[in-house]
Amino acid sequence: EPKVVLITGCSSGIGLSLAVHLASNPSKEFKVYATMRNLDKKQRLLETVRGLHKDTMVILQMDVTDQQSILDAKRKVTEDRIDVLVCNAGVGLMGPLETHSIDTIRGVLEVNLLGTIRTIQTFLPDMKRRRHGRILVTGSMGGLQGLPFNDVYCASKFAVEGACESLAILLQHFNIHVSLIECGPVNTDFYTNLRRTELSDDELEIDAYTRSLYEEYLKHCQSVFQNAAQDTDDIIQVYLEAIQAQTPLLRYYTNTALLPMSNLKLSSLDGSQYIRAMSKVIFSPPNPNTDAQI
Ligand code: NAD
Repeated sequence: EPKVVLITGCSSGIGLSLAVHLASNPSKEFKVYATMRNLDKKQRLLETVRGLHKDTMVILQMDVTDQQSILDAKRKVTEDRIDVLVCNAGVGLMGPLETHSIDTIRGVLEVNLLGTIRTIQTFLPDMKRRRHGRILVTGSMGGLQGLPFNDVYCASKFAVEGACESLAILLQHFNIHVSLIECGPVNTDFYTNLRRTELSDDELEIDAYTRSLYEEYLKHCQSVFQNAAQDTDDIIQVYLEAIQAQTPLLRYYTNTALLPMSNLKLSSLDGSQYIRAMSKVIFSPPNPNTDAQI
């Protein structure tokens, strides 16, 4: 019997790669329900999988912000069960906090936090009844450590950490394993898709010092995505490790180079070391002239 896998956010990036990889498994070990918010975007997935999916992949519409669409997708799973649920859909948001409208902020929480929770809620009762299941969530280093100009994104991903860690404690009693695949920068549409405050916006009202630091951050970010981002194949390998593990762990890290920074949070619980180190990585030393403007 194949493992039935349902993945959210499969029109691009990690979701697309994972769906293609699992559906192309030569021994047909998986039946993949690749879901996406907008079915008009299914072409890329179909082109990538190149016909290798005749009976191993079904594409379904599912918007994680729309409970009805999640229920509709669930009803279309002919096996009547999900063995592996992958909560992957997510959006980014960058910019000085004061430039985001509350609606924009709510939109990010709606997808990243409530979307993930809603999806888990919908499939959890069946998994509990069967005393069987795996829940995999695409996490982020931004869910473990704060990043400047990513306040809302990090808040949403920190919140996902809290939900998953809490669930993991209970769900082990139901033989259900929750795992977060913690990613650093990955080469996907994420960076172009993410909403960001544009410095070119004429109506942008921010002070000069914030503007210059944001500019510096954007340069840093662009160079990180250009030079240090992982390919989705690397992420899929980590996903496979979690899927195949006898007893999956709560957290898997795709990029060990980022761990020392995260460790600073544990070695200095008051937060000072992490804040100092992260600031050093991103910003050049404070400039006394610009500082004087604060
Ligand atoms: P991506 O933008 O290519 O993929 C995200 C997918 O989520 C898209 O296909 C998008 O259409 C989908 N999506 C957005 N809103 C949705 C909704 N309401 N319902 C259903 N689907 C929706 O980027 P990605 O890198 O593949 O992102 C996947 C996950 O990885 C996200 O949760 C993201 O936060 C996380 N992540 C990405 C990076 C990175 O650098 N790319 C780093 C850490 C974590």
